[in-house]
Amino acid sequence: MQSKLFIDGKWYDACEGGMLDVVNPADERVFHRCAAGTAADIDAAVAAAKAAIVGPWSRTSGHDRAGYLRAIARKIEEEKQALAEIEVRDNGKPLPEALWDVGDAAYCFNLYATYAEELDSRQGEIIGVPDERFQSRVKYMPAGVAGLIVPWNYPLLMAAWKVAPAIAAGCAVVLKPSEYTPLTALELGRIAADVGLPNGVLNVVTGYGATAGARLASHPDVRKLAFTGSVPTGIAVASAAAHDIKSVSLELGGKSPIVVFDDADIEQTVEWVMFGIFWNQGQVCSATSRMIVEKGIAPKLVDRLSAEAKKIKIGDGMAPGTLLGPLVSKTQYEKVLRYIDIGKSEATFITGGARPSHLNEGYFLEPTIFADVPPTARIWKEEIFGPVLAVATFETEDEALTLANDSEFGLAAAVMSADHKRAERIADAFEAGVVWINCSQPNFLEPPWGGIKKSGIGRELGTWGLNNFLEPKQITKYQSDAPWGWYLKG
Ligand code: NAD
Repeated sequence: MQSKLFIDGKWYDACEGGMLDVVNPADERVFHRCAAGTAADIDAAVAAAKAAIVGPWSRTSGHDRAGYLRAIARKIEEEKQALAEIEVRDNGKPLPEALWDVGDAAYCFNLYATYAEELDSRQGEIIGVPDERFQSRVKYMPAGVAGLIVPWNYPLLMAAWKVAPAIAAGCAVVLKPSEYTPLTALELGRIAADVGLPNGVLNVVTGYGATAGARLASHPDVRKLAFTGSVPTGIAVASAAAHDIKSVSLELGGKSPIVVFDDADIEQTVEWVMFGIFWNQGQVCSATSRMIVEKGIAPKLVDRLSAEAKKIKIGDGMAPGTLLGPLVSKTQYEKVLRYIDIGKSEATFITGGARPSHLNEGYFLEPTIFADVPPTARIWKEEIFGPVLAVATFETEDEALTLANDSEFGLAAAVMSADHKRAERIADAFEAGVVWINCSQPNFLEPPWGGIKKSGIGRELGTWGLNNFLEPKQITKYQSDAPWGWYLKG
């Protein structure tokens, strides 16, 4: 199978004719080839978006755009099974997780349909000013052509988190999916065409980061960049944005803590700690990859986690009952294995760390746990982005917080405790954009999402996500009959 680029509502080969291989991480075989767009294709897509934004699209109301968003959501729901199966082959994740992601993507389009309608009623909102001779109003303009660059861990969902608010705001977009998982973004392009979204409003250019991605980030006609990915790429994207003073939002990596007090419910804790690090093979930006546990219960908890980790069914994401699929790519697999080697020299190796013996192909890795991890260890400080849990202990609340916050990242943090006052106190003191109490990872699309420190700039989701793609315009009117009387003294 082969795919082309989706530009201005039509399908094109890449200008330079390049192709990229799409590999199923469960069997390491190429099952699809996509056009590898380069700078010239990005230029064509940006030109299409720019033309769309000055055409009839610029005169649509939020209500009109909500119609398109709901139609896209309906189509995603109708095609949920097929889209999820594509995601499994592309990314490796177990089918139930892929079905969850696709359902969430549909929900996201519906949610931003509602926000698009609400935007109509916010237009012209009067802002109180302390001089009644003036009236100030705010109108919200779309930010313009938006470049959306997304990673491979939630291919369709990360695209939805950006495409839906951008369309709700009235932008026209160029979406650049990860070269590892380009297929559901192309399906989104096809769905947009099926529901009659005007040509040029959504363009999808598959290709490599260093070529297609870099051109999108630096294109002078792109006014807004929304990026999700790693810190080094985020820095490159922000630098490119700075050159043209583009608005930029960055959702980057993390090394999130989960602090466990000795009064926490042990069964709930085992469940949430495992969900926090093994869900999506640990390839989750907000994965709670550092467990900071009160010393007295550490041995018991680590034993339980180790026993449960060994029971996790690992295999092809399409096989019934699979809870842990392969990592996304050879590159990622080798990177995680390197960290496991490093960890063995830094900490106490507890379990996992290798390819399961029953799987001799595919990028499969056992769930892995290290204990006694010192705060100086690389596996404590650096984002591994795999199913690897690092455990350290604490004796006082202050010590727990110091360990939790001593990170260059600040995306997420979790606390497990039966003492609700203490849990709230810890939640307030966490240096993170997303905090969970007595759970880890559940994410709704209405609250804000994003991190502080090196985890990013800005927030996605909810109305914060919509505001990312809007430029407020102040309109101030002098409404008094009396002369202003500054220069002309009457
Ligand atoms: P990545 O930075 O390697 O790639 C992300 C995207 O950027 C891809 O589409 C890639 O092609 C593109 N890209 C690469 N180089 C580029 C360049 N020079 N200019 C423009 N674009 C370029 O990240 P990844 O490996 O795909 O994803 C994993 C990372 O994403 C992890 O660090 C993870 O924490 C992060 N992530 C963060 C969130 C969040 O919400 N904060 C969500 C998901 C993933």
